[in-house]
Amino acid sequence: MSYQYDLFVIGAGSGGVRASRVAAAKGYKVAVAEGSALGGTCVNIGCVPKKLFVYGSEFGHGFEQAAGFGWSTTGASFDWSVLRDNKTKEIERLNGIYSNMLNNAGVNIISGFASFVDEHTVEVNGVQYSAERILIAVGAKPFIPEFAGSEFVVSSNEMFFLDELPKKALVVGGGYIAVEFAGILNGLGVDTTLAYRGDQLLRGFDQDVREFASEEYRKSGIDVRLNTDVKAIELADVTKPDGERIVHFKDGHSETFGLILYATGRVPNVDKLSLEKAGIETGKNGAVKVDNNFTTSASSVFALGDVTDNIQLTPVAIKEAMALIGYWFDGKEIDFDYDNIPTAVFSQPSIGTVGLSEQEAEKRGLDFRVYQTDFRPMKHTLSGSTERALMKLLVNNADDKVIGAHMVGDYSGEIMQGLGVALKAGATKADFDATVGVHPTSAEEFVTFS
Ligand code: NDP
Repeated sequence: MSYQYDLFVIGAGSGGVRASRVAAAKGYKVAVAEGSALGGTCVNIGCVPKKLFVYGSEFGHGFEQAAGFGWSTTGASFDWSVLRDNKTKEIERLNGIYSNMLNNAGVNIISGFASFVDEHTVEVNGVQYSAERILIAVGAKPFIPEFAGSEFVVSSNEMFFLDELPKKALVVGGGYIAVEFAGILNGLGVDTTLAYRGDQLLRGFDQDVREFASEEYRKSGIDVRLNTDVKAIELADVTKPDGERIVHFKDGHSETFGLILYATGRVPNVDKLSLEKAGIETGKNGAVKVDNNFTTSASSVFALGDVTDNIQLTPVAIKEAMALIGYWFDGKEIDFDYDNIPTAVFSQPSIGTVGLSEQEAEKRGLDFRVYQTDFRPMKHTLSGSTERALMKLLVNNADDKVIGAHMVGDYSGEIMQGLGVALKAGATKADFDATVGVHPTSAEEFVTFS
């Protein structure tokens, strides 16, 4: 049986672009279908523009802190439209780079949403394409629960294009996106409330990190409200659909906000794929089920990244794509290691983590010891800020290996990348002790624990 393509990729996000580009560079005939902008969530409405907004909002605190270093910043003001539009220009530049990269590799870019016809055929804009292999890399989309007035909230998708910033905003959720956007809004001068339904933000992170970060967010000016949930929302004035919203909380009190962001998780983006036509099975939240080789229940169809609802991180999708290329074209078995994946939350202050939390180590029945410190970073001896940093190391007693590293504080994402290598390489506490510190840094605390 001959097909038009060796590989047809659905979705030109981080995973899809990598798979199609590398496959085409190896000489295979590849097409990628994308219904929106090239680069997917991360480039267009995720990691990249979010980080640009974080940089923008850090100036808010920076101007306050500059006085202690002799700067006078009287008259500094902020124009949201400049940040938003400069961000959009930069993203359009990146879209162009993605387009060139794919074209240069010989990938056929097809603009439109693809849906399955059968396990070797997809349809885009009424045209059918056949392929020996089809890769689903369509990512995820925001999940917003249904309740009275849920139509009056926005998701992170809309946050990147707001006409103007509100004076007062409510962020609902306690995960990555909620704390990151609460930090962005707060830094940009918006009166920000962060409402989370549970006991503590950032479920799954180390408990000390969660408590410490929550307290730092409060100190930075965010009104963090735990055990708080929304019952209903209505317009303050029904003739003004873009106007203020009245939020009725479950505890009975009501409050008015100019903007409500729901950051309550993301679900696989499978609605338009007609997966049933190819016999592709799905699981929780519609996630495409795959085996260890990223193969779906249809043997010619594969899936990776957020659509499989495993670990929703861009670098994971990219690594999965590279593993899949090796499996298809170089005959390498896939043994993807999901342990020790470093990650950062770009809240203010940021969080970096790799390996096990104390709670996870306990759950696994490990015998381990904990090193922990919190301190005022040197910068804040002059800045006037009361911000503190937290660092924590978990060491397995049986073999002295470092099994977890956690940090709350500036540059923790940057620091965690290096520690990720150390943990991956199986570094012991003795290796950390034998490493000379970089002075004066916060990072050196990780090699001076005793
Ligand atoms: P998360 O899954 O991280 O967090 C979702 C939050 O919403 C949780 O606090 C959850 O509460 C809460 N929630 C879920 N349902 C409801 C509901 N019905 N009512 C109220 N609250 C609810 O999702 P995010 O949307 O923040 O991010 C999605 C994923 O994207 C992340 O998990 C991460 O993998 C990735 N991401 C990574 C980033 C990075 O690397 N810096 C940045 C942004 C996203 P509970 O804990 O009680 O379930």
